[in-house]
Amino acid sequence: MKIEEIKQKIVNDIESATNLKELDEVKIKYTSKKGIITELQQEIRNIPNEDKKEYGMKVNEVRNLFNNEFNFKKENLEKDALNKKLESETIDISLPATEIKTGSPSIVESVIEDTENFFISMGYDVVDGPEIELDKYNFEMLNLPKEHPARDAQDTFYLKDDTLLLRSQTSPVQIREMLSKKGKEPVRMICPGKTYRRENTDMTHEQEFAQIEGLVIDKNISLSDLKGTFNAFVKHLFGSQVEARFRPSYYPFTEPSVEMDMSCPNCDGSGCSMCKPKGWITICGGGMVHPNVLRACGYDPDKWQGFAFGAAAERIAMLKYGINDIRVFHQTDLRETKNFDRKENN
Ligand SMILES: [Zn+2]
Repeated sequence: MKIEEIKQKIVNDIESATNLKELDEVKIKYTSKKGIITELQQEIRNIPNEDKKEYGMKVNEVRNLFNNEFNFKKENLEKDALNKKLESETIDISLPATEIKTGSPSIVESVIEDTENFFISMGYDVVDGPEIELDKYNFEMLNLPKEHPARDAQDTFYLKDDTLLLRSQTSPVQIREMLSKKGKEPVRMICPGKTYRRENTDMTHEQEFAQIEGLVIDKNISLSDLKGTFNAFVKHLFGSQVEARFRPSYYPFTEPSVEMDMSCPNCDGSGCSMCKPKGWITICGGGMVHPNVLRACGYDPDKWQGFAFGAAAERIAMLKYGINDIRVFHQTDLRETKNFDRKENN
């Protein structure tokens, strides 16, 4: 093959390589041990001495041509490859985004927060207390001495011995607050928090639930103050059309004691499946603080009076959101959470 033909072939071969792999094959064809240019260089042995110089120059030209063409082509192919890669990685912002699932607030926590805001606006403190409590604070100082039959209704879980227990109500927080506020009266507080009972669980009973209790200790406090407070509370929760009513009841820690009903927000008191079908729904219990409780905390019942009330946050949430099984609050079923979410948004 003549030198000029080889040159032309180099240009053609390099030109027709469409990617870096093909270009590498061209390189092997010309510069490997048995490559065309390598053979041209070896050929110099057979050239007569007087022609060697000229031949050598021509072979150099071929080699330079190859290197120049090869480098130029390689650079272009690399650029193309990079562009293709960038093109394939381009983000199409018109595509719909990946859905990120969001959580929703715990329905019980929402009820508690709402309740806290309501009572804070009326000048109450929000107070916290331990969930592992002394029998003394959970029962004894609340006029429930050991062996009192009313303890059965609040049987709980005891730790170590019978002096330490999981609190069955948040009332011990009231005792702690009355003790610490002694001399700094009045006491106006709510104490939402977890409580525990030894229950067989069913649709309306759980071993763990959140109680919302409130307490006021001041001078000249009467049952009508409790009724006014309860009336405002249920109207805040369920709307201004809801009415409040008291029925006589019994609790060891209050005297007199009352069941606190509201007219059914679902049927306005005419009777429906939600109020079964009485037209009224009990959501709180309470009454005037028993003189024995006042005395136990160092308050003179002739000088100080007070009222106390309590409700389960889950019960309020069930009524508010139409939930009929208390156990859903401790299950992790997202369908229920979504359901609450939707109801809240409506
Ligand atoms: Zn009803």
